[in-house]
Order: sequence, then C-alpha cells, then structure tokens
Amino acid sequence: MISMTTDRFDATPRTRVKRLPDRGSYDRALVHAILDEGIICHVGITVEGQPFVLPMAYARRGDALLLHGSSASRLLKSLAGGIHACVTVTHLDGLVIARSTFHHSMNYRSVVALGTATPILDPERKLQALADLVEHLVPGRGPDARPPNDQEMKATTILDFPLTEVSAKVRSGPPGDEPEDLALPHWAGVIPMTTQYGHPEAAPDLSAKGPIPPYLIEYRRTRS
Ligand SMILES: Cc1cc2nc3c(=O)[nH]c(=O)nc-3n(C[C@H](O)[C@H](O)[C@H](O)COP(=O)(O)OP(=O)(O)OC[C@H]3O[C@@H](n4cnc5c(N)ncnc54)[C@H](O)[C@@H]3O)c2cc1C
Repeated sequence: MISMTTDRFDATPRTRVKRLPDRGSYDRALVHAILDEGIICHVGITVEGQPFVLPMAYARRGDALLLHGSSASRLLKSLAGGIHACVTVTHLDGLVIARSTFHHSMNYRSVVALGTATPILDPERKLQALADLVEHLVPGRGPDARPPNDQEMKATTILDFPLTEVSAKVRSGPPGDEPEDLALPHWAGVIPMTTQYGHPEAAPDLSAKGPIPPYLIEYRRTRS
C-alpha cells in the first residue's frame, strides 16, 4: 500500500523493476508527469484465460486514472466488475543506434499500474470525470462543447482506477556500447523522436463561423 504523505509509491514484489533496476522509479512526480503527458494507455485484462490488451483514452486525477467507454463493451464491463487489470502508458523519446546490433535500444518513459477499477456512479462525479477526461485530452475544450445528455451519460461507463501499485521506467542517453566496440567504424548515437500536431482541419460540415479556437491551433503536449 502507498502512503499518501510520501513522494514515492512503494515498490511491491509485482512492481519492482528487477532487470536494470536503475531505470526503475517510484517517484510520484515522475509517474504523474509521464501520465499527464500521454493520452493513450493500454489496458490489459485476462478473460477466460485469454489476455487482451486494448488501447484506451485516460486522464489522471490525483492518484487515480479515469477510464471511460461504452457501457456495452466487454472491456468496460470486465473492468467495472473488478477484474485485475494492468494499465501501461509509454512515451518513445528516441531510437538508440549502437555500434553493435545487441546494444540498439530505445529511449522511453513508461508507467505500469496494477489494480482494479471501480465504476463512478454518482451523476455529479460522473459528469466531472467526463469533463476531466476531455480536459486532459484537449485542455480548454470542456466549456467549448455541448455537455453530455442523459442518454449519453447512461451509455457511458466511467471508471476510477486508483494508482496503488505503480512503477515508472526510463531510458535516456546515448548507446551503451561495449568498451571494445567504441573504435569500430559504425556510426552511433540517438535519433530523437517527438510527436507533432498539425494545423486543425475543419469538419466538412462545420457550421461554426468563428475562427479556430487558439487552444486548438496551439495544441501541444509538453514534457514536464
Ligand atoms: C487510440 C484509441 C483510443 C481508444 N480509447 C477508448 C476509450 O477511451 N474507451 C473505450 O471504450 N474504447 C477506446 N478505444 C477502443 C478500444 O480499444 C476497444 O476497441 C473498445 O473498448 C471495444 O472494447 P470491447 O470490449 O467492445 O471489445 P472486445 O469485444 O473486447 O473486442 C473483441 C475483439 O475485437 C478486437 N479489438 C477490440 N478493440 C480493438 C482495437 N482497439 N484494435 C484492434 N482490435 C481490437 C480484438 O481482437 C478483441 O479481442 C480506443 C481505441 C484506440 C485505438
């Protein structure tokens, strides 16, 4: 269990980074930063012995993730039923080009969280959670869109996934070639990677006459 008064999540036997432990971290601020930068998580569950890993949107609220989806979806029904789940978020920062094929790698930041979700049933909390999800995806958009109606709310399951067993793992920097390979004639280094966002393209049936809102033109997800 974690202590809410510390800056770190406690490593558990299931979240301890065993290989290359120096890349592992339980720092709460780092975990939060990785989660806040991302918009897609991959949710793993096992149904009747078969693992499924599906992409989902998410938002972080304190030490919990919010997940949402169709109430009719098997994934959402399974999660709402309290099935054990694993949620992963990954940022790819670079391709690491080494002198040896063995030491080729990637620079990345990722978070793995283990736990179970709970449905948010209270209508006000549910509405707020939906607003949080939109705000996480597109900051500033919430007040600038029609809120969900009763039917849409009914068709949507919102889940609270507490961050209890959590680890981060980070690789950064140049390749880790063997000393005896450093004099080889092969180029070595890093190809940095970033995600770019283009200029907003209007829907073909757009009737709004105003300019594109600045928060859309300036949309970026910055690394904190
Ligand atoms: C970027 C992204 C964001 C998404 N965000 C959300 C979200 O926030 N909430 C949400 O509910 N859904 C989201 N989805 C869709 C989600 O991945 C599932 O497709 C959806 O939840 C349907 O689940 P299900 O239980 O009905 O599917 P299941 O009935 O469990 O799926 C049946 C089979 O369909 C196939 N399948 C299902 N989903 C996918 C997929 N994404 N890609 C390829 N094959 C698939 C698999 O073979 C699976 O076994 C997102 C998808 C993407 C790509």
